Amino acid sequence: MARAPRTAAIRTRTDTQPLRFSPAVQMGSIEGAKAENGVAAPACNGGDQRNGGGGGALPDGEAEAGRRGKVGAAAAVLPLEVGTRVMCRWRDQKLHPVKVIERRKIPNAGPNDYEYYVHYTEFNRRLDEWVKLEQLDLDTVEADIDEKVEDKATSLKMTRHQKRKIDETHVEKGHEELDAASLREHEEFTKVKNIAKIELGRYEIDTWYFSPFPPEYNDSSKLYFCEFCLNFMKRKEQLQRHMRKCDLKHPPGDEIYRSGTLSMFEVDGKKNKVYGQNLCYLAKLFLDHKTLYYDVDLFLFYVLCECDDRGCHMVGYFSKEKHSEESYNLACILTLPPYQRKGYGKFLIAFSYELSKKEGKVGTPERPLSDLGLLSYRGYWTRVLLDILKKHKSNISIKELSDMTAIKADDILSTLQSLDLIQYRKGQHVICADPKVLDRHLKAAGRGGLEVDVSKLIWTPYKEQG
Ligand SMILES: [Zn+2]
Repeated sequence: MARAPRTAAIRTRTDTQPLRFSPAVQMGSIEGAKAENGVAAPACNGGDQRNGGGGGALPDGEAEAGRRGKVGAAAAVLPLEVGTRVMCRWRDQKLHPVKVIERRKIPNAGPNDYEYYVHYTEFNRRLDEWVKLEQLDLDTVEADIDEKVEDKATSLKMTRHQKRKIDETHVEKGHEELDAASLREHEEFTKVKNIAKIELGRYEIDTWYFSPFPPEYNDSSKLYFCEFCLNFMKRKEQLQRHMRKCDLKHPPGDEIYRSGTLSMFEVDGKKNKVYGQNLCYLAKLFLDHKTLYYDVDLFLFYVLCECDDRGCHMVGYFSKEKHSEESYNLACILTLPPYQRKGYGKFLIAFSYELSKKEGKVGTPERPLSDLGLLSYRGYWTRVLLDILKKHKSNISIKELSDMTAIKADDILSTLQSLDLIQYRKGQHVICADPKVLDRHLKAAGRGGLEVDVSKLIWTPYKEQG
């Protein structure tokens, strides 16, 4: 089948060196970070200038400490305690405030030689990482006073504090739907990322979150994935050996959609248990609140691929329960970082509703949604609903909108309410749609990017066999 190349650059690359993909170049959240600590870094690599721990403040360190009015190097006792706040040189070569979350000894080094796992207080939790002592500006060390206050605080106060912190670090909306106890438990258990990087196909990707890989993988900071069967290995040579004998060139299961270079595969978790589990381990690295289902039998996985002459390369997926009491039509959704901001998230959401329409059911995503997931859903609902309202001259009810779109009535109501398009008159919700207002909201929601071409979807709803 002839396929026009979508991205020439991707198709012509044949070398085996993975493209490095780090969230630093993509994450919108960083751009929004406050610059108050942005003392210009020296032109050379600032991290190399400091050889760790000595009190001799270098010029930039002095300037920093002086400006911030902090106590000098005397405050820094090594190793640093968990909870310490200090400035840390990040990959942009600038100093940013961090809090030490965890520390660990460096094997075969001196008794006080530790690495530190830090949270950048201006950034999203997904950028937490292990750093070397040389990256920390010890002249800026502060013991964490409010940590002690937090410990004694009531759980309610703790929740507010946590929520505020999370909101400051760019709306992790999913957290709001967890209660205080499960949020704390979650953060304690997952505070340290276990795998820092993965290699997947042509990409090396920095991970975002903890994922519960089997214990034997926890001492490796990088894992190597076969991009087709998603088996993972600790060493590059193991992957190379695997690739010589792995005969998959696309996800297992049925190709249910093909349009241009895009294909969607439906994978039954019962028939492809190992693949389903591997996919869950991989996805958890990029989803904060995914509940990992070892029992993947109950799910279908819809894996979206960009295809070329080397095979079908996964760009993202969503999972769906085979039978949902709560009319969930999507459990987890992920676009892999190298493929984000290309409209694939919107495509996956639209696809999940196309499946619901074929089933003749309304659907809704399982909660909590991730921060990125919620943003994508809000955009999708807004575009779909307002497009219809614009075209419909006569009155239309929420029920009718729901029948046309397979969007659950609750989601329609909350979307229209958030846009201030609903009034309550004589005991009824009435949609008030001034065309100018609709246009303004539609513009703000952005365009939908990749469309699902329904004529290319060849699919029958799942039926239990035997
Ligand atoms: Zn494989």
